[in-house]
Amino acid sequence: MTGKYRNVLELIGDTPLVQLNRINQDIPGVVYAKLECCNPGHSTKDRIALHIIEEAERKGLLQPGATIVETTSGNTGFAVAMVAIVKGYKCILAVSDKTKAEKISFLKAMGAKVFLCPANVPAEDPRSYYEVAKRIAAETPNSIYINQYFNQGNTEAHYLTTGPEIWKQTEGKVTHVIGCTGTGGTLTGSARYLKEQNPDVKIIGVDAYGSILKTYHETGEVDKDEIYPYRIEGMGKNLVPGALHFDMIDKFVKVTDEEAAYRTREIALKEGVMAGYTSGAATQAYRQLAELGEFDENSVIVILYPDHGSRYMTKVFSDDWMAEQGFTNSRLNGLEARATV
Ligand code: PMP
Repeated sequence: MTGKYRNVLELIGDTPLVQLNRINQDIPGVVYAKLECCNPGHSTKDRIALHIIEEAERKGLLQPGATIVETTSGNTGFAVAMVAIVKGYKCILAVSDKTKAEKISFLKAMGAKVFLCPANVPAEDPRSYYEVAKRIAAETPNSIYINQYFNQGNTEAHYLTTGPEIWKQTEGKVTHVIGCTGTGGTLTGSARYLKEQNPDVKIIGVDAYGSILKTYHETGEVDKDEIYPYRIEGMGKNLVPGALHFDMIDKFVKVTDEEAAYRTREIALKEGVMAGYTSGAATQAYRQLAELGEFDENSVIVILYPDHGSRYMTKVFSDDWMAEQGFTNSRLNGLEARATV
């Protein structure tokens, strides 16, 4: 990115594809990471915050001084707060009272007003963050509720930007896109554009153990017994997100918390790419697919890297945290020394 911009929002999108050269040893084809951390809010969510808010403006739903409401403490919360600040809107985020103080400070630094809601109540309880957000939006004139899991503007943002970028950056040669699905917006919005250009592009979703998405894709059923807590944040879900267009996905791969964590650290140590936990998860899925013989010498693989590793310094990049989870730090020993191009 070079040049002059009228404001920070003009930096959203046009993120680079960076070739990976070391984590793919012995795997045929060429593999790129799409670095969504190069957005100004350091995640893929900048795209949806901008698109959804600008769509609301085009529809006349937002007047000066408007309020934008959302329910996440993660990347979307930060992105919404950033877009709101630049456009002169207020941002209210209803988040779980389990959210770490550091994350709340991060959102407040971007001017968001944060409402803490009890974590241990069902989604339909009036105290839950979903219900609180809905109520605030309903009771506040001149406001919108982003509702990223069910907002088609989320998927559309990626249909309009991420998908075309991947097509152009690979000169139409992309054969596989691998990405973690939370709302499903990034992967399935990009997928719709790419499959319109070439229906043979394979789209691979990455799911967590403890999430229902892979089984739902395969059976059309939600298996409640599959739901249990897991450590990777931002991917997988305990309900069926309306923004996730399942028909765009060729197959899902599940990865474990531990393999994803190890892979996240490996990407930093071997490629010099400081990416988030789900980037490691998607790269782990790539390795698992390679073992199944998915790729050949003509494969042009794009792995979506949704955010930056700096958000995980007290988690996956902390040896203590890794040890507390029972993960094997020793697997990382000597990685730097082994790395050769
Ligand atoms: N990785 C991270 C770190 C995220 O915050 C998200 C969004 N929840 C995703 C992956 C998945 O992106 P999407 O919601 O577009 O499926």
